[in-house]
Amino acid sequence: MALHDTEELKAAPSNQVESDVLDHETQTYVFPEQRQNPQTVYQTIHDQLILDGNSQQNLATFCTTWIEPEVKQLMDESADKNMIDKDEYPQTAAIEERCVHMLADLWNSPEAASTIGCSTTGSSEAAMLGGLALKWNWRKRRRGQGKSTDAPNLVMGPVQVCWHKFCRYFDVEIREVPMEGDRLLLTSQEVLKLCDENTIGVVVTLGVTFTLQYEPVHEISLALDKLQAETGLDIPIHVDGASGGFLAPFIQPELLWDFRLPRVKSINASGHKFGLAPLGVGWALWREKHDLPSELIFEVNYLGGNMPTFALNFSRPGGEIICQYYNFLRLGKEGYREIQIECSALGRYLADKIAEFGPFRIIYNGEGGIPGLCWELKDPTSSNFTLYDFADRLRERGWLVPAYSMPPNREDLVIQRILIRHGFTLEMAGELLVQMQIVLDEFAHHPPAERLTDSLVGAESSAHDHSGR
Ligand SMILES: *Cc1c(COP(=O)(O)O)cnc(C)c1O
Repeated sequence: MALHDTEELKAAPSNQVESDVLDHETQTYVFPEQRQNPQTVYQTIHDQLILDGNSQQNLATFCTTWIEPEVKQLMDESADKNMIDKDEYPQTAAIEERCVHMLADLWNSPEAASTIGCSTTGSSEAAMLGGLALKWNWRKRRRGQGKSTDAPNLVMGPVQVCWHKFCRYFDVEIREVPMEGDRLLLTSQEVLKLCDENTIGVVVTLGVTFTLQYEPVHEISLALDKLQAETGLDIPIHVDGASGGFLAPFIQPELLWDFRLPRVKSINASGHKFGLAPLGVGWALWREKHDLPSELIFEVNYLGGNMPTFALNFSRPGGEIICQYYNFLRLGKEGYREIQIECSALGRYLADKIAEFGPFRIIYNGEGGIPGLCWELKDPTSSNFTLYDFADRLRERGWLVPAYSMPPNREDLVIQRILIRHGFTLEMAGELLVQMQIVLDEFAHHPPAERLTDSLVGAESSAHDHSGR
């Protein structure tokens, strides 16, 4: 839900689009009195949507923008399918169940055929469910020991905003290890400093939003094993594999990050990111059935049939889950591997080329993490432009390449990031590089009169925070 301010909406240029099809006033702020011809309404909305950005040039988003015709067809055929209505749509429910077990297999659950998991609207909902399970399990352990359950905390590195939400909404103290100097990720040493008897778990991110790098799950797991041997504290890991959950199994199969590590009790991933499903699907899985506390599961019988559910939402569209299943069958490990390898290679290619421009230092070159890259200015103080200026000029040319500042304690570090998704081609990379060169030449001859800064960007445009997407 976007919280829109009506005055702001009135001022926003996108709402001043004239349409010769429907009267402007009636389509904006006032609930219509009369019905309209469907074709007229369709054309009006269609015309408005043309002014949206071109998703192929959106290098900010993690979400898939590649949709096969068969996926469109399946989405069309399942527009009326409600995921919660498992009694009415048993085939859709069976497909969801198969996806859970295929993912459990892909992520090496020792009980792939019987473990538990669910689809969600995305990784955010999946993170809430993962966090709740950690909190419930911790509380059960503490009660068993006759100890206080007043002050649960969750340890993490630079996380996506969904973990801030989880901690605030569900009353858990957030212990976020800040970035320091060149350390932009969570490390085992930092984890050990923050863990105590009230720690419900450690969230390790496989593909950090800000820099695209993987956090060292295996190393953190080993450190927590050692902590347990020394102190008796048994602290579980939840892996936020929003992106990495659909990358590592295909292109870094030797990397230990999943249920092969017994301490990894739950994993979330976004089907609609590198899972390549249409928007609106995520996954949450537990290592073994008993890792999900049964108290969190609701039995619902009023749709006919007794159905266990674990979700924040009730009604949800079934189409994207059906299409996720289509992708699993259509691509298999081979197809996913091919696609993700190609995306990674394009990321490395762009990293090399962008380094050659001169003013930039590559922070992540596409090697070992999410397909893509990020960079900073080598010398931000003496540069006659900022990365915000660079992003702004590229945007005028249709390319969305966000610039943003890092979270604490590296707010001083401004970087720019590109995600490479399926559908981005070598030709497009070439065109982007040409546009980048043109902008850099412009800066060389006509530097911006006033350099854009973080606060200026926020005040002057309606630019959204792209770092979190
Ligand atoms: C995108 C992302 C999320 C949120 O996922 P949605 O599917 O957009 O809800 C959470 N964590 C990480 C690491 C992400 O990249």
